[in-house]
Formats: sequence, C-alpha cells, structure tokens
Amino acid sequence: MNSPNPEIENVVILGSGCAGLTAAIYMARADLLPVLVDGYEPGGQLSLTTMVENFPGFPEGVMGPELIDRMRQQAERFGTRFVEGAAKSVDLSKRPFTIELQERRLQARALVVAAGASARMLGLESERKLIGHGVSTCATCDGSFFRNQEIAVIGGGDSAMEEATFLTKFASRVTIVHRRNEFRATKIMLDRAQANPKIRFLTPYLVEDILDVSKGVVEAIRLRQVETGAIETIAVNGVFLGIGHDPNTKVFQGILDMDGDGYLRTSNGTHASVEGVFVAGDVADRVYKQAITAAGSGCMAALDAEKFLAEQKHKS
Ligand code: NAP
Repeated sequence: MNSPNPEIENVVILGSGCAGLTAAIYMARADLLPVLVDGYEPGGQLSLTTMVENFPGFPEGVMGPELIDRMRQQAERFGTRFVEGAAKSVDLSKRPFTIELQERRLQARALVVAAGASARMLGLESERKLIGHGVSTCATCDGSFFRNQEIAVIGGGDSAMEEATFLTKFASRVTIVHRRNEFRATKIMLDRAQANPKIRFLTPYLVEDILDVSKGVVEAIRLRQVETGAIETIAVNGVFLGIGHDPNTKVFQGILDMDGDGYLRTSNGTHASVEGVFVAGDVADRVYKQAITAAGSGCMAALDAEKFLAEQKHKS
C-alpha cells in the first residue's frame, strides 16, 4: 500500500533498537513504506553491548552492534526510510498524527512507539569511555565475560540485587556498592543477595571514578564513604550499573497512558491509549527487557498497526 499523499506517511516508527527495526522489517515487507526515526541513541541498548550470546540463531554469539546493523540492513532492504533525530513533541489529538523532530515535521496515519529505555548512568566520564570495556548496563548480556573475576554492581534496588545474584554464577566475588545504608530493593531480593556468600555489600559509598581509562580496561573503582568522606580504591575487573532504567516517554506525558515510572500502558496486544498508536519494546516493558522480547513485541506492534491501517483504508 503506497502512501497516496506523499506528505502523509502510513506509519512512523520512533526508535531504532531491535523493537523499532523489527516493526520496520514487518511493515516494510507489507509494502507500507515505514519511516523510522533513529532517536537519541541510534541502535538502542544493543549498540552498547559487546557479545550477545542469547539471541536465537547465532550459536557462536554475535556482537550487539553487528546484530543491530544487520536488522537495519534488513529493514532498509524492504524499503524502510530512516530519518535522523528524535521526537521533540507530538500531536496525537487527531489523525494524521504530527511528530515534530528537531529539523522536520512528520505526519502519519499510524505511529509505533519503540523509543526504548535508557540505562541510568552515574555521569562519570570514565564510565562513558569504558562502556563495553568492563563497564556494562546489562548483566544478562555481559556477565559471562567475567568468569572468576571481581565485579562491582552499583545500586540498591531490585535491579542491583538481581544483577549481583546473577553475576555470582560467573564472578569470583561481587561487591554491591550503594550510596545509602537503606535499600530500595524488595526484602526477598535483598535477603537473597545478603545470603549469597559470593556477595559483599559496601555502604554508604559513592563511585567517584572508574579506573583505568588510559589502559582502556576496568581495573578498579575509586569510592567515597558518604559519612566520613574517606576515599577507598577497590580492585575490580567489571562494573555493572544497576541504578535503573528510564523509559524514553517524556514526549508522551499527558498524551498517552503511562504508569508512575513512565512505562506506557497497552491493551489488547500493543495498542496504546490513543487509537492508531502502537507500542513495542522497553518503552512498555519493566519485566523482561531482552533483545528477543523487544523484537517480538516490534513484530506484534507492526501486525497490529498493519491491521489498523487496513481497517482505516476500508472505511474511507
Ligand atoms: P530503582 O528501584 O529505582 O533503584 C535504583 C537504585 O539505584 C536505588 O537504590 C538508587 O539509590 C540507586 N541510584 C539511582 N541513581 C543513582 C546514582 N546516580 N548513583 C548511585 N546510585 C543511584 O530501580 P531498579 O532497581 O531498576 O527497579 C525498578 C523497578 O523494577 C522497581 O519497581 C523494581 O522492583 C522492579 N524490578 C523488579 C525485579 C524483579 O522483581 N525481579 C528486578 C528488577 C527490577 P537510592 O535508593 O538512594 O535512590
């Protein structure tokens, strides 16, 4: 189905991680000429990881950036058009929807929101430079690279407890570093981590720096004891950030239904609270957060959007 009015797209997809790209592959193969907006983090979280060993079809594993690049090529092959930038604002009060990017405006009959969630970062320059080289935001993705090594997990919530517990499968020791003596984690997750002989807790400590950027690998973290101000350096080979994720939904506040943490609410599959808007991937997933589940929901959103567009065409 070609867009009869070149000014109005059939569908705009927000996000170029595996949810958005999978939606694009399906919609492009359905001849809907999707337009995919890259977003602030092109390629999404996969582009921030190294080896992916749990994506089906790659028995030897595949590098995250390569996997996402291949999805992109596949989406492009069937006619997806890619647009740089991210949505600054949207008007979903009437169709066609209007999506304002930094430098252009798009109009679309349907919208797929696959803008993902961004791992919270500490904000250190060393963290940014060593991501993928010992600093990770995903224990499931990168844990097995740290067999018999020392790991630090930063954070005091369920994510940190879950990551630390998971990482004890591989690591010789996991140190949870948290900025307060009290934990946000649920009791069961905290109890499990505290009962694990491979996990030790350091509180209340702030991470001041991750060493050693000059060598391009993680060798230690420099910590500040919050109460005394004392500086301590502990040797670790890996740093996992477990300080939470934020769904990239600010632009939809007050427009689409979301929960208190900003995750979009869906019903009847991938339908958002506004008719014609479909949701895929981590933007609505606070539980699974895997590449394969994001890809699966991208497929679902595409099929739902395709059906919606076919019904609209039938009505007109
Ligand atoms: P969270 O509950 O928001 O916890 C984030 C933790 O990171 C907090 O302890 C926070 O410290 C710390 N933190 C945040 N920013 C920091 C910074 N800049 N520097 C140092 N520490 C920082 O996030 P989450 O653990 O990802 O959990 C999010 C939601 O998912 C929760 O509802 C959780 O129950 C759920 N979840 C459930 C499971 C499960 O049941 N299996 C697993 C993971 C997550 P403060 O406490 O001092 O603010």
